[in-house]
Amino acid sequence: MRAVPGRNRAERGAPPVTADRSRAVRGIARRYEPGPAGNGVPTVILSTQHVRELNTARILRTLRENGPLSRAQLAEISGVRRSTIGAITKRLMTLNVLEEREPAPDGARGRPATPLWFGSRAAPCGAIAISRDEIDVAVVNARGDILARNVSDLDPDVDVENIDRAVVTLLRETAKDFRGELVKIGVSVPGVADHTTGEITSCPQLPALVGTHLSEAISAGTGVTAVVDDDSHGSALGEQFFGGGRGHASFATIQTGFGIGAGIVIDGTIIRGPAGLSTEVGHTCVDRFGAVCNCGLRGCWETIAATGWVRQAAADAGLKDATSITIARLTALAQAGQKDAARLLEQYAENIGIGLANLAQTLCIQRFILHGHAIQGGEGLRRQIEAATQRRVLQARRAHVIVELSQMADRAGVFGAAAIALATALPVRA
Ligand SMILES: [Zn+2]
Repeated sequence: MRAVPGRNRAERGAPPVTADRSRAVRGIARRYEPGPAGNGVPTVILSTQHVRELNTARILRTLRENGPLSRAQLAEISGVRRSTIGAITKRLMTLNVLEEREPAPDGARGRPATPLWFGSRAAPCGAIAISRDEIDVAVVNARGDILARNVSDLDPDVDVENIDRAVVTLLRETAKDFRGELVKIGVSVPGVADHTTGEITSCPQLPALVGTHLSEAISAGTGVTAVVDDDSHGSALGEQFFGGGRGHASFATIQTGFGIGAGIVIDGTIIRGPAGLSTEVGHTCVDRFGAVCNCGLRGCWETIAATGWVRQAAADAGLKDATSITIARLTALAQAGQKDAARLLEQYAENIGIGLANLAQTLCIQRFILHGHAIQGGEGLRRQIEAATQRRVLQARRAHVIVELSQMADRAGVFGAAAIALATALPVRA
């Protein structure tokens, strides 16, 4: 085990919740009555207490998705009345869930509004990021501070009992100073997980996990509810709460590497299929006469945009150590004037851009946050990928398409896992 030093739009659609004070019954959360037309649709009457809880959740979600906000901004974005915001935030500050931050000078006359943000002990979550050869465990609070962290190597051939034991042991050690405080545990796995049942349905990198319910073992071993999800969803939720997705209603995170995956957020909600199915953009066809993919289909995006393609193309170009070459090495070669390396990087950017443009055209996504191997290419490769994407979308949309590099570096896994927990937990124990 090695210790690692520690280190974040409103909900749309639903109207703000208001109590029907004249009819609410103290102590009864809901009462069902026939609909006005007698059509069998129940009318839900909420007690004042229940309304306060729902508005509290709404305020916390607005902060989580937008970062620090003044009370006026909170009211505008969340749709909760200003007077209600005042009462709820006062209570949350008393509970140390929220705190006031120093206002940033805005150049206007008068005192700038004071932003509210999560306190340092607000909603600490257990975060467990499992990859093929590593277990990365942290305690992360609602504002995105890593309060404790440990990483352990993992043998990919390990059996499931040993994975369970290793994960629980590492979490207990990491969270020893937070006993009784963790509100939830988020677990990200490199495969497909049904986050409603916790069953891992596919995991090519760690086959022992298929068919297992890792979250149940972790909950039983720690006494804290654990929720498991796949790492592509974790990446998107992590960027939404702690990174470049914050404040943006729609965006996609793109995992680049030996495969290509995406976590897609539309109007603040991550796209999920039934029974835990995730999107498989890496296996959408970009060339019907292309190479056969690992999945058995022909001409998938992965066959031209994964690191395997890069290495094959490097070998074809006669580059040294092509079978183990990295994007970082190619970038260094290109910067040193190696023309074949520069040409290959340009082609790689074009190939990634094809898939991003298809997503932009299909789902109106305008912001892409890159994770994985492509980050090694730095700002130069980012610009090339952005330009390649823009060239393939309709002209009127081009200027709006933005490609960013994730700023999370080696913290992406635990931020994703923490966000999996926060996405399903009311981030307050009050
Ligand atoms: Zn495929």
